[in-house]
Amino acid sequence: MKYTFRKLNELNDRVLLCPRCCETLYRTDIEHYTSCPYCALMLEMNDELEDFLLEPIVEGWAITEQRRMT
Ligand SMILES: [Zn+2]
Repeated sequence: MKYTFRKLNELNDRVLLCPRCCETLYRTDIEHYTSCPYCALMLEMNDELEDFLLEPIVEGWAITEQRRMT
């Protein structure tokens, strides 16, 4: 399954565009059910999708790391 992401400039974050209905999916929309809330497409977990879901955690670590350095 090929995923398309769109950058949210104002939030420095990304959203996923549903491969079937092209609705904008926020991380919170898909992290619990891994399906599109609009068309119920089951989203196949792959590296791209996993990276997308883990991004805030990774960024959180980076911020914690920076604070420890200063
Ligand atoms: Zn959909």
